[in-house]
Amino acid sequence: MKEQVDSKITDLADLIVQLARLGQSTAHGTGALPLTIAQWTALRYFARANRFSRTPSAFSDFHATTRGTASQTVKSLVALGLLTRQTHERDGRSTVIEVTEAGHTQLRNDPLGDLRNILGSLPEATQRDLTVALSQAIADMAQKRSAPIFGTCGDCDHLDRASSYCHCTQSLLTPAEMQAICVDFQPVKLSNRG
Ligand code: SF4
Repeated sequence: MKEQVDSKITDLADLIVQLARLGQSTAHGTGALPLTIAQWTALRYFARANRFSRTPSAFSDFHATTRGTASQTVKSLVALGLLTRQTHERDGRSTVIEVTEAGHTQLRNDPLGDLRNILGSLPEATQRDLTVALSQAIADMAQKRSAPIFGTCGDCDHLDRASSYCHCTQSLLTPAEMQAICVDFQPVKLSNRG
């Protein structure tokens, strides 16, 4: 019986990996530059990350890769005109990465769009259950690997919900920033585990 359960769990892990591979495979849409999976991941990341997280080092944490590799990926996207570096508003010595207009155009041909559509056509209850189960699995894996978890303000322990104030970054957050992913995210559930 135990063997049966273990084999089902392994199959589920394989299915998730296979789905991720297929979803990211680059069937290029009209007008899209041919990008590698890492380049697509970086472009998506910088389009979704908040101002505290749009750095090559935060991207290296997100992508679970080395700082050098993340930096090379960013450099290649800057060279293609899809990303640009700007001086950080709080620290003049560091830079923050922004997606250019060409980058946003490229994202309209994101190969992950097919996977989003397929998942979006599942019944709503299935989508909710999948979101809860996968979010928990990601949190548990991140804890096992001592890796940071990325998330948004609504589920973060650093947020003062009454004032939209972030105690970690000591900033008032706009509604748009509340929807962006963040390297300083601290999930409410994990932080309450003791
Ligand atoms: S509340 Fe949490 S997720 Fe939001 S900006 Fe602050 S640290 Fe990041």
